[in-house]
Amino acid sequence: MSDARAAHPGLYRIDQNPPSLLGQRCAACGRLAFPPNPYGCEGCGAEADELVTEEIPGDGELAAFATVHLHPGKDIETPFTVGTVVLDAGPTVRATLTCATDDGLAIGNRVHTQLVPQQSEDDGELLELRFAVEKS
Ligand SMILES: [Zn+2]
Repeated sequence: MSDARAAHPGLYRIDQNPPSLLGQRCAACGRLAFPPNPYGCEGCGAEADELVTEEIPGDGELAAFATVHLHPGKDIETPFTVGTVVLDAGPTVRATLTCATDDGLAIGNRVHTQLVPQQSEDDGELLELRFAVEKS
């Protein structure tokens, strides 16, 4: 794992299990946002220098999901399932789930972040963030 790196640096930590997301809290209005943006607060319009990086626990609830069976990307393996997750901390995130299909999934399932290793072109290990569903 020593040469492992995040597939999307700046969006989540790779040294925790489960990993936290890296969001931004607005110092002016307190709004917590994910993903981070370089422009400013979408809630109150404060400038970007008012936004402070904050770790967001990767726990939430599944609000929607869809399984993709055909994808034009030649290196994209199908099927895979994407979900809309409402984090307990507030922000809503759309991300890939760890399960390939939506078999047994239900709106309201609890989910948590999980790092999934992917092979990169230079043989290093890329850690991609996905959401694992706790099926009831
Ligand atoms: Zn704000």
